[in-house]
Amino acid sequence: EAEPATGKVYQIGTDITFAPFEFQDVDGKYVGIDMEMLEAIAKDQNFKYEIKPLGFNAAVQALESHQVDGVIAGMSITEERKQKFDFSEPYFDSGVLMAVKEDNTDIKGYEDLKGKKVAVKTGTEGYSFAESISSKYGFTIVPFDDSSQMYEDVKAGNSAACFDDYPVLAYGVKQKNGLKRVTEPTKGASYGFAVSKGQNQELLEKFNAGLANLNANGEYDRIKDKYISDEG
Ligand code: GLN
Repeated sequence: EAEPATGKVYQIGTDITFAPFEFQDVDGKYVGIDMEMLEAIAKDQNFKYEIKPLGFNAAVQALESHQVDGVIAGMSITEERKQKFDFSEPYFDSGVLMAVKEDNTDIKGYEDLKGKKVAVKTGTEGYSFAESISSKYGFTIVPFDDSSQMYEDVKAGNSAACFDDYPVLAYGVKQKNGLKRVTEPTKGASYGFAVSKGQNQELLEKFNAGLANLNANGEYDRIKDKYISDEG
């Protein structure tokens, strides 16, 4: 028996750990800009959802195979992804940057990566960027499923550097995660909420309507400011 549309509980895929957008607090609850924004939008637009912390690549694949209704995971709106997914209005500008272990003084730029290993996260813009310059600068890519594994590999001295989104790396460095930023961020794509192409248009419309309301009433800025301060 079909449930009424209002009774639907949307399944939303997300990353395992991508602070300040999605991460677990001390009680294991998922918090962060994406999580609070979605919560506020769902309240504003009166829909129900369930968060599935699958990991970034797995969440994107789950969306492609219609196992989830949407993905919110600091997901960049790229031309390639637009072939498969419909995106909401952009809500956060991003780009990729390189980081090394805090006490590393040898690696100051891409040219210092020759013969080294570089940690990246599968299926991300950071991965694509690293791949696009790896032969030019002569480094090897080591893929990981989530950002914390990737950072650990750099801290352990196995990989010389990693590439990740700058709002995430900047937040991590500020939290003293043992890394430091090296390069300036690339001009990257903005984040959007994604649904499968041509599917769940109702959810996408609600998301956009809720986001516009949150922008207008200052709620979105309040959520962002809670996690990212001006110097950030
Ligand atoms: N913004 C990046 C992308 O979309 C990374 C997202 C993530 O790792 N959660 O590829």
